[in-house]
Amino acid sequence: MTALASMKAGIELATIAMEARDDRKMREAIGEVSRKLADANMGALGMSELLRKLEAELRDTTAKLAAAEKRLGQREEYALCEIRPGAFVYASKSVGDGAPPAHYQCQVCFDAGESSVLQGTLSGGILECRRYRAHRIVLRPANPVARARGLAGYGG
Ligand SMILES: [Zn+2]
Repeated sequence: MTALASMKAGIELATIAMEARDDRKMREAIGEVSRKLADANMGALGMSELLRKLEAELRDTTAKLAAAEKRLGQREEYALCEIRPGAFVYASKSVGDGAPPAHYQCQVCFDAGESSVLQGTLSGGILECRRYRAHRIVLRPANPVARARGLAGYGG
C-alpha cells in the first residue's frame, strides 16, 4: 500500500469515527493519519535527495560526454606520425585560412586527453613537451665529440 493510499484509509477511519462520535477511535485514527503523513514526508525527503543526487550525476555525465566529444573532434584534426623510429607525435592536419600553423602534439599527453604543442629547442634536434620534460623527443643522436668537448648540441 502506498503512503497516499494508507493516508486515505486513515482519513476514512477518522471520518467514520467522527460520524460515530467515538472519541477513542477518532484519536486512534488521527494518530494513524499523523504517522502516515510523517512517513509520506520522509519518503518525499528521500525522493528529493535521490533526485538531487541523480541531477548531479547527470550534470557530471553530461560534462564528461562533452569533454569526450571535444577530444574526439580534436583527434580528427591530427594524424599519428612516427617522427623518427620509435618516437611518435600527433601532427596537425589543418591547413588554410584561420587554421593554426602546422605543429606537433605530444603523443603521451594527447592520448591522456591533454593538449601540449611540442616546442623545438634553440639548438635544435629536440622537441620538448610543455607539460612534462620526460616526454621530450631527441630527433638526432648526441654527437659524442661535441659532448666530450662540453659543447651543447646534438647532431652535426
Ligand atoms: Zn607530454
